[in-house]
Amino acid sequence: MNNIADIKQSTHVIKTIPELRAWRRSKLLQGKSVGFVPTMGALHDGHLSLMKSSMRTTDASIVSIFVNPSQFSPSEDLESYPRTFENDLAAITDLGVDVVFVPSVDEMYPSGITTQLSKQTGAFVEVKGVSEQLEGSIRPHFFRGVATVVTKLLNIVQPERAFFGQKDIQQTVVVKRLVKDLHIDTVIHVVPTVREKNGLAMSSRNWYLSEKVRADASVINAALEAATEKYRSGITTSSELIDLIRNTIATKFNPEDIEYISVSDPISLDDIDSIQPLKGAIISLAIRVPNRFGGSTRLIDNTLL
Ligand code: AMP
Repeated sequence: MNNIADIKQSTHVIKTIPELRAWRRSKLLQGKSVGFVPTMGALHDGHLSLMKSSMRTTDASIVSIFVNPSQFSPSEDLESYPRTFENDLAAITDLGVDVVFVPSVDEMYPSGITTQLSKQTGAFVEVKGVSEQLEGSIRPHFFRGVATVVTKLLNIVQPERAFFGQKDIQQTVVVKRLVKDLHIDTVIHVVPTVREKNGLAMSSRNWYLSEKVRADASVINAALEAATEKYRSGITTSSELIDLIRNTIATKFNPEDIEYISVSDPISLDDIDSIQPLKGAIISLAIRVPNRFGGSTRLIDNTLL
């Protein structure tokens, strides 16, 4: 028989903004701090690590699951993006998160939304200067969509703290800048990347990969670790570190499928030719690897020096 202390209260599923605001107001009146973890679902241990950080540092935690159309281009995987709500809810409940917010697209975009940029109407948020390089150079629509949905969610939830993964490092820079510039009263926390046993960064899109490609993709983290070792041994020239990463990845994948490998300034995200130890750097990369549906899937990863 279950001990009464073992029975967890199930996570409260909220679908509308008025209901979410009522819950938020009740926490405010109780003097309880709120932590927020935005996600697109298909949850894995990386997401759960953000939730654990939230639960450790705030009184009540809320997770959102929303596959945000405005961050996809018409040629990307909005329709096929993995949606696993029942499993996600079980994982969230098991952890003891208080609320999961699952709004509809209409609720989040009252003016409507299409992935076709030229046909969009309504309010959007741009964070200039940190959205155009790296991921933004390959996905020019992406950070406008992310900044817009994060602003909407922070306005709705009004959390004291919000939690984002280092896995999407440019996203953390964009979000920190938008919170600062738009005077949003939320502290942004960055949580380390959670990896598979073989080193591959966990991602909802890993679901698209065969076992063989998942195994081969361990070379991405191995390449970042090799570059970190080389930097520690005194090599600070970006091109040398980039060559090492490219050559390591080329042992498993076609180097032409690497979209970028960059050594950049951790604040401006601009490419740098050599690393100043006091400033440090971000090494980030994106590569297209074959998926099990005959197409390709983009993987991104990074490390901080
Ligand atoms: P997503 O559902 O992919 O939009 O991700 C939601 C949040 O989880 C973002 O802040 C991501 O950076 C974070 N995240 C995704 N993968 C990982 C990972 N492997 N480790 C830590 N955080 C992650």
